[in-house]
Amino acid sequence: MIRSGLALVLILVGLAFASEFEPIVDSRMNFEEALGGQIIPDSIQLELRLVTVQYWSFDGHIHEGQILCSRLVVNDVEDLFELLKRTHFPIRSAIPISRWYGSDSASMANDNTSGFAWRTMWGSDTPSWHMKGLAIDFNPRENPAFHHSRRSPPDGTLDPKAPGTLSDNSPVVRLLRSRGWKWGAHWRRVQDWQHMEKQIR
Ligand SMILES: [Zn+2]
Repeated sequence: MIRSGLALVLILVGLAFASEFEPIVDSRMNFEEALGGQIIPDSIQLELRLVTVQYWSFDGHIHEGQILCSRLVVNDVEDLFELLKRTHFPIRSAIPISRWYGSDSASMANDNTSGFAWRTMWGSDTPSWHMKGLAIDFNPRENPAFHHSRRSPPDGTLDPKAPGTLSDNSPVVRLLRSRGWKWGAHWRRVQDWQHMEKQIR
């Protein structure tokens, strides 16, 4: 009796210990769900991959999410999220924007980090590198985009010292730049702090 009681206690402690290290799942979609029923040319779809990633979120817990991106940057994305985790750089969530029926503004309002999006550049008709899965937007509320007097998302606040904010010296920007990515923060037309892209033609 004592022995079985002890075994039960050990099992419960083990379960509590395991759940402590189970990531909180923000996104676990299949590929079709990640595309979200949008009409996207086959030539683009064939190039996309759904990458499972883990990260520290702002609640101090490890979360699991997904980045939909081009197969050409899967290695970069995996290495990037390893680095984010190792350096405790917080990511609010990483969920394909099909969660918000493809609405980039809804994804941004939720401070969500995402890759593929079927849309043009903000305030322009120019195709975005997001359309090829070759761009990622990070923590939009901490890293808003500025276009003249407008900002996106509207409640975004830029404080370069706040956790989750990109800067020239942040390991995220340094790693991706070393792999040929460009950061949008210092562009002339839009200062897009959340945006990094890799222009592979
Ligand atoms: Zn972007």
